[in-house]
Amino acid sequence: MTYHYIIVGAGSAGCVLANRLSADPATRVCLVEAGPPDRNPMIHMPFGLAALAHMRWLNWGYETDPEPNLNHRRLYWPRGRVLGGSSSINAMIYMRGHPQDYRDWAAAAGPDWDWPQVRRVFKDLEDNQSLHDDHHGRGGPLSVSDLDQPNPLSRAFLRAGAECQLPQTADFNGATQEGLGLYQVTQRHGRRFSSARAFLAPALDRPNLTLLSGAQVHRVTFQGRRATGVQLRDQALTLAEGGEVILSGGAINSPQLLMLSGIGPGAHLRDMGLPVLHNAPEVGANLADHLDVTVQAALNDRTAIGIAPSFLPRALRATWQYLRRGKGEFTSNVAEAGGFVRSDPGRDRPNLQFHFIPAYLHNHGRQPSLGYGLTLHVCDLLPKSRGRISLASPDPMAAARIQANYLSHPDDLPVLLNGFKLARRLIQAPALARHVRRETLPGPQVLTDAQLEADIRARAETIYHPVGTCRMGRDPASVTDPQGRVRGVEALRVVDASLMPQIIAGNTNAPTMMIAETIARQMLRGG
Ligand SMILES: Cc1cc2nc3c(=O)[nH]c(=O)nc-3n(C[C@H](O)[C@H](O)[C@H](O)COP(=O)(O)OP(=O)(O)OC[C@H]3O[C@@H](n4cnc5c(N)ncnc54)[C@H](O)[C@@H]3O)c2cc1C
Repeated sequence: MTYHYIIVGAGSAGCVLANRLSADPATRVCLVEAGPPDRNPMIHMPFGLAALAHMRWLNWGYETDPEPNLNHRRLYWPRGRVLGGSSSINAMIYMRGHPQDYRDWAAAAGPDWDWPQVRRVFKDLEDNQSLHDDHHGRGGPLSVSDLDQPNPLSRAFLRAGAECQLPQTADFNGATQEGLGLYQVTQRHGRRFSSARAFLAPALDRPNLTLLSGAQVHRVTFQGRRATGVQLRDQALTLAEGGEVILSGGAINSPQLLMLSGIGPGAHLRDMGLPVLHNAPEVGANLADHLDVTVQAALNDRTAIGIAPSFLPRALRATWQYLRRGKGEFTSNVAEAGGFVRSDPGRDRPNLQFHFIPAYLHNHGRQPSLGYGLTLHVCDLLPKSRGRISLASPDPMAAARIQANYLSHPDDLPVLLNGFKLARRLIQAPALARHVRRETLPGPQVLTDAQLEADIRARAETIYHPVGTCRMGRDPASVTDPQGRVRGVEALRVVDASLMPQIIAGNTNAPTMMIAETIARQMLRGG
């Protein structure tokens, strides 16, 4: 059996491609996923997100190198390793980004990536359950809905924003992204709507679509400079004449796979003992991510979602409501509210994002914290620091090296510092202060800028949006052209979050699906 398309990775991007490219029954498509099927019920119940952090078999569970500007800490980077990829373990926030993000993309990669074009694609993909206006789509494959039962603290957070004179927005993907509000989520009837559910499930019974799960691709095979297929541990998959391999392994694994296949910085590949098929210095470079810091407080009441014996009756009711009707507290995506603000008025778009959690959240949910608390995250949306993915070993089963290089650009720390102070003001505003017993992190003893900076270095973490490591562009130094075609070889594309020419000022799941849909359309037009 040979295939017209071999897609590596059934994540946010890969599932979109599998659906679109297999729509023609004459096209044979093989989708290869390293992780298992998405059967675990914790994937589908939104609040199961908290439990997923402990399930190492659904998660690559990466760690960065020691970060020089974060007290040499190794940061934990979860990534989905299951059908749906990271869209099966993420917080389900539906966010497109700011129009200016895409104007910047268009300058780098051409008009297909400009705001009017990508806006149309976002709308086509969308099936918005509650917002029926010109900004939103209905009837598309991706269900987007309001949260069923936001915690009262999330609404108190919005009131605290008003008390701090911050604007409110009823729709982050509408006329203006700026302001605080409740997030819309990729859910339907209270269940997660991952990329696998939206795009793969409806296509799975097509006889021309083959899905291999539990199958990790080791490298792309070539004849000369033309890709011929992929090598797995104990089998090879082969392309039909004129076919293509598409890497959709995400911002860490796609550049790793390119390097394992001989495409990357020549000296580095030689150091690893790998043959150099094409010297491409930018493979793995330009790594950008949203660095995030939190303010936490213990509460004087039981409004939050807590870990405490007194929460048990509520948990039982929530389980019952969820199982019976897909409703109730366990439909919470945890990060229920948030918003976009500018760290200073001179910015051309909001450059800080909040994620408000009506619960304690420690160590990415891996460390349970007893009692009732709240956590307010703030991240720098447009960091200038850049890092790199490289190989730690020529062994395809070994994790790649991640050097995020956070705060290496001097402009980034002041932005996060401003955000940190604003987060604190929000928690001290009357609407939240009436619930708060005491600030637990960073704690009242942390007062001066120097102390806050030290706390950022000691505690900041990823908010899970690595992108840019196989940058697309019109310039010859970019890893791919604006259609995701890898420069220097034939019949090989990258289509996932690694293509982003600049990081989005928002969450990255919907933009990654939009990338896949845009490139699928280009391919079907013969591009
Ligand atoms: C904990 C968490 C929370 C997040 N919350 C949000 C949110 O609320 N909203 C939002 O917009 N974004 C969120 N994100 C980010 C968003 O989910 C990602 O940006 C997006 O899913 C990336 O899509 P992708 O297709 O590039 O990669 P992925 O979805 O990660 O897909 C890559 C797939 O490729 C597979 N793969 C990799 N290597 C191989 C190989 N060698 N062989 C076979 N298969 C392979 C992987 O197992 C995976 O299934 C979150 C991410 C995480 C981890």
